[in-house]
Amino acid sequence: LEPLLPGDGSDGGEAAGHAGATEPKARAVTPRRLLGLAAGEAGPLALGCICLLVASLAQVGVPKLAGELIDVAIQASGGGSSPEEARRRTSSILLQIAAVVAASSLAGGGRSWLFQHAAERVMCRLRVRLFAALVLQEVGFFDRARTGELTNRLAEDSRVLRAVATTSVASALGSAAVMVLGLVLMFATSPLLTALTLAAIPPLFLTFWLYSRASRPLVRQQLAASARAAAVAEETFSSLRTVRSFAKEGAVQARYEGAQDAALSYALRSAALDACFFPLAGSLATGVVMAVLWYGAQLVIAGQLTAGALSAFVVYALFVATNAGALLGIASSVVQALGAAERVFELLDRQPRLDMQAGTQEPAGAPEGGDVRLQDVWFAYPSRPSIWVLRGLCLHVSPGRHVALVGASGGGKSTVVALVQRFYDPSRGADAPAERRAAAPHPARVPAPTSGAGGARTGGAASNERLEAAARVANAHDFIAALPQGYATEVGERGVRLSGGQKQRIAIARAVITDPRVLLLDEATSALDAESEHLVQEALERAAAGRTVLVIAHRLSTVRRADSVAVVQEGRIAEQGTHAQLLAAGGAYAALVQRQLLANEQPQQGQ
Ligand code: ADP
Repeated sequence: LEPLLPGDGSDGGEAAGHAGATEPKARAVTPRRLLGLAAGEAGPLALGCICLLVASLAQVGVPKLAGELIDVAIQASGGGSSPEEARRRTSSILLQIAAVVAASSLAGGGRSWLFQHAAERVMCRLRVRLFAALVLQEVGFFDRARTGELTNRLAEDSRVLRAVATTSVASALGSAAVMVLGLVLMFATSPLLTALTLAAIPPLFLTFWLYSRASRPLVRQQLAASARAAAVAEETFSSLRTVRSFAKEGAVQARYEGAQDAALSYALRSAALDACFFPLAGSLATGVVMAVLWYGAQLVIAGQLTAGALSAFVVYALFVATNAGALLGIASSVVQALGAAERVFELLDRQPRLDMQAGTQEPAGAPEGGDVRLQDVWFAYPSRPSIWVLRGLCLHVSPGRHVALVGASGGGKSTVVALVQRFYDPSRGADAPAERRAAAPHPARVPAPTSGAGGARTGGAASNERLEAAARVANAHDFIAALPQGYATEVGERGVRLSGGQKQRIAIARAVITDPRVLLLDEATSALDAESEHLVQEALERAAAGRTVLVIAHRLSTVRRADSVAVVQEGRIAEQGTHAQLLAAGGAYAALVQRQLLANEQPQQGQ
């Protein structure tokens, strides 16, 4: 169903009503599309290319001048010219070399800055686009994706792509320019020697090809093992309390070590391969240089070549060789980066199955706000499409009413709330009034914006006064004010530096500040101490006043306070009524109470 992420666990089976849920095929990654990433940087990149050309020209100019300098010196020593004249000429050549080197450095610096500048901007834009694409994906997508992998794509893949779209292209252009110029100058100096040099290319290429064929799988496996190790580390640190509670430090250490050991063994094999290849390639290259030198020496002896020309030739040959090597390296990195590019473009192109923008605006003539209605809702989770979780569920909560959802675990209570929040769309049926659905393609999300609410409610930060007022409603102001840093306190990831009751009161304050018409509550199953419980209850009652409330209830006290109780069983509402009515009816609800599935109201102190 979902070809995007490995390990998505899609089981192939598809419940009715999920037609059209198949993923559109990702567009192929073309070089055009890759370069398109750098489209906004055309100016700096063009300028960078000019700098690059100047730098390359200057680079190949130096050996030519150096060769001339050698020839002038040799001529003078052989009595071919006066020493004064030779000194004057060598000084002038040295000045030319200095000028060329200065030009090359300037152009090189300019090239580096311009390309880097473009690269950073491309990467920044890419990451922002990728984040925006991800954050708009529907909740079902995140049920299947691994957080670690998504953050990895955001950081790593975009970095790799940046390199391909800008720096690699630039270096490839530079290398190609130097190579072509070097070859031309080689030919101009001595076609015979050039032919001799080029004869060395096929065996060198063959060894490189063999090497990369052997090395690539090793590198890939090493990266995969490292990623596994990183996943173990991320999972461990993000759930350290669980690890500690179960005394699993030893186990996670062993898992981490296992993954690192695997990475190490691949890295060592890779290192052994490198230790064989590079000396071999080096000897081959040196052999070629020696052969060229020997043959060149014969040409000099025969008077067919000057010594200076020979030394310039050797330097050109080295230029050509190193740049050819660089081009091969770039080619292989581009091939590797194409994998990363495919993954990034897949995410960039992915259309969320739920439109996050739709339904957030109140259509004109909408029914009174705060009306929650589920009509014959059938629902299967996208990650488990063959199992119906809700089977024709109907529920209506009129504005301002408080309804408690009760039922055995796994019956579908949380799923109902998730649908009302529009984390998912129903597979069949509707989870909002038909009128609203007709006016907007999707039901309003909860908390629904109050009519007339300005941008402040959905956008910008709340003012300090509103913040404090909400905290007071939620019984959170006193404890916040007592903290050394007050409202500026850093509470840690997921609020690790707060107590259970404090976290709940902060959550209530957060809900209050958005001033929703509908309040969705999931009652904590674990009891707080009596004092905290009282503070949370009081806060909840204040927050719920005048609002439509749907609460997943686990306590009798909550159920008694609700206007109506709905028993969720096997994806349907089994019965609905007040606590007293349902008790008297002696049905599913009475059985729940009987089996003490609803905790009694008074938290017992000292237990
Ligand atoms: P309750 O809140 O009544 O305990 P839930 O709504 O949480 O019940 O769960 C109903 C069923 O849906 C359970 O069988 C559960 O395993 C399944 N379920 C819940 N969340 C998901 C999910 N994100 N993906 C797949 N199945 C889920």
